Amino acid sequence: MDGMAADERRAVTKDGFISSAVLKLLARRGEVSAVDAISPHFKLIALKGEGLKGASWAPGHKLQVQMRGLSFRTYTPIVWDSVNGSARFLAYAHGDSPAGKWMKDLRPGDGVTLFGPRRSMDMSFDGPVIVAGDETVFGPAAGLVAAGREVRCLFEVTDAGESRDVLAQIGVGDVRLVPREADDAHHAALAAMLTGMVDGRVTYVVAGKGATVQRLVRALRGEGVPAGRMRTKAYWLPGKTGID
Ligand SMILES: Cc1cc2nc3c(=O)[nH]c(=O)nc-3n(C[C@H](O)[C@H](O)[C@H](O)COP(=O)(O)OP(=O)(O)OC[C@H]3O[C@@H](n4cnc5c(N)ncnc54)[C@H](O)[C@@H]3O)c2cc1C
Repeated sequence: MDGMAADERRAVTKDGFISSAVLKLLARRGEVSAVDAISPHFKLIALKGEGLKGASWAPGHKLQVQMRGLSFRTYTPIVWDSVNGSARFLAYAHGDSPAGKWMKDLRPGDGVTLFGPRRSMDMSFDGPVIVAGDETVFGPAAGLVAAGREVRCLFEVTDAGESRDVLAQIGVGDVRLVPREADDAHHAALAAMLTGMVDGRVTYVVAGKGATVQRLVRALRGEGVPAGRMRTKAYWLPGKTGID
């Protein structure tokens, strides 16, 4: 499957669609083994199946999951057992979007079609990590914690109470949360909290909403953090669908 990564990259278009011929050739197939609604907006989704065996996976790799029809959405496995064929990821439902509807209807025993796992942000560095972002980055943070990494987190969130509860359930303990405000008025406070955490040993993983990623990267650069100590990725952009 690794040799197929380049084909897969071309297969899923920028807006998350794919041709059915390509789908048959390159996709993995799995089955939902559990759907755990750990809060009103978050589901832990467990997958299993022969098709998940033999995958090459590391924390930070991404997975593209087929919704209804030929559209895909991107998630980050928290764990992947390539020997026994199982994986788990955390999905956040921000609204009545294709992924929100898919999550709502998902049941154990449902079949799923997947691309990946494959590299997204490279987490193969040593030392402590600060993960900054939002609800979509809880899963990647949990993956790093599960891999035994030293992780601190800073997230902008819609509901701090729900987020704190979810993070505790997925094992992410060292967390600061900043409630979202209209027109990103909380960004100055968020950036100030991140620069207050700057430490020469740390690598920064910054993902989530595109504008927030840009703002936080600017703040880190202002503190002299070199590009080699940052892993950055926009996970979603207002008005765009199926960002990969
Ligand atoms: C590499 C990568 C890894 C990711 N890993 C995860 C993960 O582990 N867990 C996870 O939950 N998400 C993850 N995401 C983010 C997820 O793929 C997007 O949020 C995706 O857009 C959700 O699909 P959708 O059908 O809900 O919305 P879409 O149909 O894609 O988008 C519709 C509109 O919804 C808005 N929107 C999209 N996402 C959000 C959001 N989070 N909050 C508020 N508004 C939003 C935008 O305005 C967008 O135009 C990841 C994304 C990438 C690129």
